[in-house]
Amino acid sequence: MPMFTHVLCFALILGMPWMLHAQAEPVIHHEADASETTKWAAKELQRLLDAAGCESSPAIRLVADDSLPHDGFEIRREKNGIIIAGNDSMPEGTWALPSHGTLWGVCEFAERFLGVRWLFPGPLGEDVPRQKTLRIELKEPIRGQPGFAARSVAYLGESDREIASRFLPVLDWMKHQRLTNALHPFVTGYGHSWDDYLKPADIAAHPEWKPSSGHFERNGKVTFFCTTAPGLVELFAKRVIESMDRNPKREMSSISPTDGGGFCTCERCKPLIDTDPHGKPSHARAMLTFYQQIGEIIARERPGRRLGGFVYYNYQYPPASAPKLPDNVSLCWAPLNYYGYGLLKPLYRAEFECVMRRWSEITPHLFYHNYSTWMRSFHGAPLPVSLDILKRELPAAAQNKAWGARMVGTSAWGVNAPINYLLAKQLWNPQLDVSATLNEWLERAYGPGWRHMRTLYDELDAKMAAHKKAQSPIYKGANYEVNEEVMKSIYAPLFATMEQHYRATLAECATEVQRQRLAMFGHNLTQLHFALRKAGLIPDDAKSIFHRDDAAFAEFLKDMETTFSLYRDARGLDHGPIWKGEWREP
Ligand SMILES: [Zn+2]
Repeated sequence: MPMFTHVLCFALILGMPWMLHAQAEPVIHHEADASETTKWAAKELQRLLDAAGCESSPAIRLVADDSLPHDGFEIRREKNGIIIAGNDSMPEGTWALPSHGTLWGVCEFAERFLGVRWLFPGPLGEDVPRQKTLRIELKEPIRGQPGFAARSVAYLGESDREIASRFLPVLDWMKHQRLTNALHPFVTGYGHSWDDYLKPADIAAHPEWKPSSGHFERNGKVTFFCTTAPGLVELFAKRVIESMDRNPKREMSSISPTDGGGFCTCERCKPLIDTDPHGKPSHARAMLTFYQQIGEIIARERPGRRLGGFVYYNYQYPPASAPKLPDNVSLCWAPLNYYGYGLLKPLYRAEFECVMRRWSEITPHLFYHNYSTWMRSFHGAPLPVSLDILKRELPAAAQNKAWGARMVGTSAWGVNAPINYLLAKQLWNPQLDVSATLNEWLERAYGPGWRHMRTLYDELDAKMAAHKKAQSPIYKGANYEVNEEVMKSIYAPLFATMEQHYRATLAECATEVQRQRLAMFGHNLTQLHFALRKAGLIPDDAKSIFHRDDAAFAEFLKDMETTFSLYRDARGLDHGPIWKGEWREP
């Protein structure tokens, strides 16, 4: 064994000729023709070194090395400094995605050696510890590669270009978290799409294509049709090809059905309908047969182009015998039963891993998509993190070699940033210790009193687990909504306790930045207090620090326009009062 240590401590070797002063000369080098993401990473790293107040740094070379795994990197020392090597290739092949290993290596370097954490978007969310001297302990090279090739967290504001104060910082946060949907939104495509291809005129020309129910049109668009009707598959495939040719940059085309599942049950379709494990009709085999037929035509006519198809709603369970799918088709399993903390229901917990495994056997390119730790929530309710669910689902998806996953976060960053953060981190590293990472997030964000906030999140987890265990396993849209029932069951009873935890944390905040981050949580409790009070679910108690009268609340909402605190979508911050049952657009 060598007797010398590999620990590089740049404080001790200051003054050596290759030591560069961060302010004097650039210490980060890359090739002139480096990828755009590498150039961005170099600027980011320089900015972070400056933000940390590093007075000295080793030279850092960013180099492309396509022999590394897809999106993989290696951080190692060389004689004159540090090398961050990454696979930055644009590989060919139906399932190949652009690789950005150097950028991810730089993110790793910043987190590990500079101690940077991107808690939420914007300057307040970036935690950069001050350190004059960069200490780099590199006993051996650090290598990294992601758990999934395609990594998406949605509903963060990444598509809301019109919300200018949020849009770009959200995209930057997503890059820091190594998500791929900020860089490449079109590499996956699974959305409801049947109405993109067939028109009412097609059905008028072929009345025999109507589904058995006869309902084939909504708002001038084709919703459902008989997938086994002669000639239909050929025209559908022709339209998919035309769409591909019109959109050469759209790397994947969806062939997923319209939402709602009004499928044909005619004499030809009926033999393709099975019963799901809960005794309901399952159209999965009918859908896979349709995907197979379209996939085969596309493989012949447009080789190399990939197709995406949902397995969802009344086709979310895998059939006992499935048609063999061509290689160009990826299934996106969107288990509607498990939306909105459904995986806390014992019946679904018991089946989850088995269903995941079966889908992965049917498609070698499984894409997992779930609204598992999400609820429609417009009034500042902090959503449970549900460590129980997080520990189950992405680890199982990774174990079954899923090609990618799209998890759903929320734009109410003030209270739900930990969920967004944990999902993003798990997409890179499915083996992440989510409990320890939550603790670290809370401590970084709120300072010494963070344990009070951990208790708050644990209480939310426990309340939601009890609520879901008591709820029928039968699917209802209202199952994933923070409506009056959930407000009564979870948030109204817990409000006073949440306020206590908040006050205890605030009393222990050590810095102004910690107080500001905690205030973002408080903004949501202000919104929640107002909504609960208006609905008569809590007393009109002016002693609460979150109490606002109507005029003060209106002013408060105006102040929130440019922050990341509250839930916001294209319709703004205010979505009206707490609703009963299922949400309806006003
Ligand atoms: Zn039919």
